[in-house]
Amino acid sequence: MPDWKENLRCSFCHKKSGEVEKLVAGPGVHICNECIGLCGEILEQERHAASTEPRLPVWETMSEEQILDHLPKIAAVQAQVDDNLRDWVGHLRGRDVSWERIGASLGMTRQSAWERFRSET
Ligand SMILES: [Zn+2]
Repeated sequence: MPDWKENLRCSFCHKKSGEVEKLVAGPGVHICNECIGLCGEILEQERHAASTEPRLPVWETMSEEQILDHLPKIAAVQAQVDDNLRDWVGHLRGRDVSWERIGASLGMTRQSAWERFRSET
C-alpha cells in the first residue's frame, strides 16, 4: 500500500485504512465500511421510530466532560481535512497550475493561496 493510502483514516471513527475493510472518500473526508454500516442501522432505527419531535442539538444531551472529550476528535478531522486539501493543491502545483487559479477556486487571492499552501521545502 502506498504511504498516502496507509495514512488515510476514517473521519468518523478515526481508524486507519489498514484497520478496516474499505474507506470511501468524500471531499477531504473518508468513511469506513463499519461506520457506513452504523449509519445504515441509525437510519433503519429512525425509520421505525417514526418520531415527529424535532431533535435537540446533540450537545443538549451531553455533559461538559463528553463535550470536552469530543473537541479533540473534531480537531483531528480538521487536521485531516487540512492535510487532504494540501495534498490536492500540491497535486495541482505538480501540474503547474497557477496560484491564481488555485486561489480563485478556493475564493481567496493568489497571495493568500500561496501563503497557505506553499511547500516549506
Ligand atoms: Zn469509521
